[in-house]
Amino acid sequence: MVLQILFGPAGIPIGTPGEGTAAGIEYCRALGLGAMEVEFVHGVNMKEEKARAAGEAARKNGVKLSCHAPYYINCCAKEKPKVEASVRYIVTTAQAAHWLGASPIVIHTGFYMERPAEECKKLVYETYEQCLDEMKALKISGVVLGAELTGKKSAYGSLDEIIDLASHFGLKRLMPVIDYAHFHAREGRLGTKGDYLKILERMETWLGSEAAKNFHCHFSGIEYTDKGERSHLPVSSGSPQFAPLAQAWKENGWSGTVICESPLIEKDALALQRTFASAR
Ligand SMILES: [Zn+2]
Repeated sequence: MVLQILFGPAGIPIGTPGEGTAAGIEYCRALGLGAMEVEFVHGVNMKEEKARAAGEAARKNGVKLSCHAPYYINCCAKEKPKVEASVRYIVTTAQAAHWLGASPIVIHTGFYMERPAEECKKLVYETYEQCLDEMKALKISGVVLGAELTGKKSAYGSLDEIIDLASHFGLKRLMPVIDYAHFHAREGRLGTKGDYLKILERMETWLGSEAAKNFHCHFSGIEYTDKGERSHLPVSSGSPQFAPLAQAWKENGWSGTVICESPLIEKDALALQRTFASAR
């Protein structure tokens, strides 16, 4: 079995000569990176023509694309208009992803707003179902929703919650996006290979071996308080360590994509790729 894990930056690399998504994709290839996440975190403003051209650049350069949906989403908002706006953000991100040939679209699901998690869960199910229905009606294909493990304890998206979502909708419609830095900040400190293996085993037990073949995840260093994440740090911070995760993946034959959300997006994506290559 050829074990393939692709690495790439969260957004257009900082050192990209020229401007725009297509130039960023070409630069990823020049650096030897195989993936890139297109960031729509402050809104989706990409027209069809530009998206299709960037998608073409990605295919030509063999760079796998994913997208990140806007930060303003709250799938379990108390107010109906806020839920409707969240659906709009998700569906327009999905539309752009379809033009780009990108998947998954990574989403911060929402906030508990001091309600029990069970109450939010019902709303989250309904909102994601509505998004998937609208995507189907618009003939948006090949785009999977990616529920991210969120970094704040006030946000919907613990490890168990995102695994539950993927199990409810099926991996072909919604996949869990583990952000290991967020896990480190929110749920428990990651130090040893055993810490990472617990996460991988939990995914495999609940979602089957399919979850191990085509994962999508985020990695960076992180600064945190007891409320969870504070800010992302360079990988060299060692908080958490990447090498034990690379070993856990290799030993268990996992494959997928790693997006680096450190402030040094492409430099650290390369550092992660090197660490993975030398892991035993
Ligand atoms: Zn995110």
